[in-house]
Amino acid sequence: MLTIIIRNEDFISGNNVEITQKKDINHIKNVYRYKTGDTIRLIDGKYEYKAIITEIENKRIQLRITEKNEDKYSLKTELDIAFGILKNDKMNIALQKLTEIGVNRIIPLKTDRVVVKLEDSKEKWNTVTEEALKQCRGIKIPEIDKILTLKDINFSDYDKVLFAYENSEENKPVFTLLSGEEKRILYLVGPEGGFTEEEALYIKEQGALEISLGKRIYRAETAAIVIGGILADVYK
Ligand code: SAH
Repeated sequence: MLTIIIRNEDFISGNNVEITQKKDINHIKNVYRYKTGDTIRLIDGKYEYKAIITEIENKRIQLRITEKNEDKYSLKTELDIAFGILKNDKMNIALQKLTEIGVNRIIPLKTDRVVVKLEDSKEKWNTVTEEALKQCRGIKIPEIDKILTLKDINFSDYDKVLFAYENSEENKPVFTLLSGEEKRILYLVGPEGGFTEEEALYIKEQGALEISLGKRIYRAETAAIVIGGILADVYK
């Protein structure tokens, strides 16, 4: 079933919703060829709705909500990731998979070894996460932060901060470092060239726990996805 993301202003009265975004209208009319009377799925970041199409016009589609469901698709913890900005295609893979996994917030990090040219990619990144969210049945789009540096991160906001470090001697399975009770977790993954020694030291000084995925060096996006999966399993 087609999923459409709606915003507050799309609710017109009571159970009636109006879709005015060109892209969505095209999807409903031309890609899915829905007609009046057909049902689609709406999400607004908090709830999931089933809605019947009541009117199709060129510039707007009206629907009536018939069902409202709580979010049963999000993780039981707020899982945030901060990771070194990657080149386009790798960044997109990371954003797509992290959305599927269910991360809450993505912090694009500018670290010493970030080599990509920084531009305002937020709109592009948001499109990737929105598409991924619709596909995976989630309800909450991960929030993509503005580009931050390590110093901008408030480590004390989190119950636990995990630091993926390829030079770590740590050998414990990652899940054993979790109590299962954390409300907010942050994990950090470096860019392609990794964190510098000074950065690693700074992160550890903030109380982050080192984690290792073993002796192999993973690509940054692989590390981000694998760790996300390990954490998501604990909080599913
Ligand atoms: N400095 C490395 C590569 C960094 S890999 C080099 O060029 O030799 C990119 C990021 O992925 C790292 O900063 C780390 O956060 C994560 N990562 C990769 N392999 C890892 C492993 N075995 N354990 C933990 N984290 C890893």
